Amino acid sequence: MHSNSDKQNNGQNTDIIILGGGIAGLSISHHLLNSGLESFKVYESQAQVGGLARSFRWHGIACDLAPHRLFSENKAILQELLDLVECNKISRDSEIVLSGKRISDPINIFELLKVNFPFHSFKLIFSYLRAKLTPDRELQNFDDFVKNSYGDALNDLFFKPYAEKLLGIKSHEIAAAWGTRKLRVSGFRDAIKKDTKLYFNYFYYPKSGGYGAFCQTLGERVEHKTQTQYRLEKINYIKAEKNYECFFRDTDGQLICKKSPTLVSTLPLTILLQALGHSSSLNYRKMRLVYLHVNLEKVMDQQWVYFIDPETVFNRISEFKNFYPQHAQKNTTVLCAEITSNPDCSSDEVVDELVRLDILKAADVLDIKIIDIPNAYPVFDQQYEENLASAKSILDQHPSLILLGRQAEFIHQDIDEIYAAAKDTAKKCVSIFESHGIDHT
Ligand SMILES: Cc1cc2nc3c(=O)[nH]c(=O)nc-3n(C[C@H](O)[C@H](O)[C@H](O)COP(=O)(O)OP(=O)(O)OC[C@H]3O[C@@H](n4cnc5c(N)ncnc54)[C@H](O)[C@@H]3O)c2cc1C
Repeated sequence: MHSNSDKQNNGQNTDIIILGGGIAGLSISHHLLNSGLESFKVYESQAQVGGLARSFRWHGIACDLAPHRLFSENKAILQELLDLVECNKISRDSEIVLSGKRISDPINIFELLKVNFPFHSFKLIFSYLRAKLTPDRELQNFDDFVKNSYGDALNDLFFKPYAEKLLGIKSHEIAAAWGTRKLRVSGFRDAIKKDTKLYFNYFYYPKSGGYGAFCQTLGERVEHKTQTQYRLEKINYIKAEKNYECFFRDTDGQLICKKSPTLVSTLPLTILLQALGHSSSLNYRKMRLVYLHVNLEKVMDQQWVYFIDPETVFNRISEFKNFYPQHAQKNTTVLCAEITSNPDCSSDEVVDELVRLDILKAADVLDIKIIDIPNAYPVFDQQYEENLASAKSILDQHPSLILLGRQAEFIHQDIDEIYAAAKDTAKKCVSIFESHGIDHT
């Protein structure tokens, strides 16, 4: 997708520059084309588009960067995504391993009462009733948020150890907002409501190509507008020209300049700020994904299983075959383990743990692949609101620089939410473009 004409135009360009070719960059490009606006270009550092929502084929099985599934409460957006990519509707089959016992995912409160019965059961009921009967405490952190919604005992048993494992900080150091964004519940009623992002019984998954099929389809549509292997290094704002100069490094080590009065950034916010010459204390949590090609028809029945106990090195394992009815007859399978607590963890540690948990035997493992994700989760620590506000105050000086997506907005979002937001951002871009008095095409 390199084009020599791009290298020769000395940065003279009025196209909107879209930074990053993940679902956010691809969705806004798609919506811009739908609005009849052709004057934009996407710049992506990797050789392929898709970002966190891409897939790859390994030993004949489509694998995602950790399991992804589509569930949307926004019916119109869901339909648009289903019109883009043919999907199967799949019944959710997932579990949670807690204190060594397997229970349903999402949590079923009655099953939970059986974990460490009767001691925990009484504590769970008592602390839940106490949380409901005593006036709400001030929500200073994630601990308060969960204790208010479910009581201390459920927090200690489930939410606290999992949040600490995922984000790597103590639960009292996690902002209360993590509860509403990640758990997406504001109270117990939300937690048991059916057909929500938390409590869905079914989801949609592409019939082929993995979850990355969404990015693949959008990527094909905007391929002529995409420049891969261009890594953004620096942005200068030229006040007199009301233009941004973006400097990209290509694979030959050359620095290439592109100019535009309008930028849409889908890059991690910290990378954007650095390119603008600012630092930030915002943090993203790293994740290591360990993929195992296993010499068994099937390792488990579930699509994914969470592991809450801190001594288990991974947060979750998933088996991609269980997302695809058509893979059922293959005689080998692929497992993926997600690790955040020790992102340098070796694959041997993962295999040893799976053996200890009686999930597979070491001799069953045929091949191993490791993928590291530097920006898997925006970390909502106690300082994040202040850090985000200070980042936003810098960006307020740049009204023609628009943020879009999970990484750029530093917020937990799924692809349906990003695709929907991209639609509004595309409208905003069209009106900015028109206000510059430039022809659309
Ligand atoms: C473990 C996990 C599970 C998830 N599960 C689900 C799920 O079940 N369902 C769901 O819908 N969503 C899920 N998500 C969320 C989903 O993956 C993300 O919301 C989405 O992919 C983010 O898209 P984005 O475009 O905002 O960011 P990204 O995908 O990160 O895209 C940003 C792009 O910018 C590029 N880039 C970075 N730096 C530069 C640079 N300097 N120059 C140029 N380009 C650069 C990157 O290579 C990348 O392609 C999950 C995420 C994780 C981590």
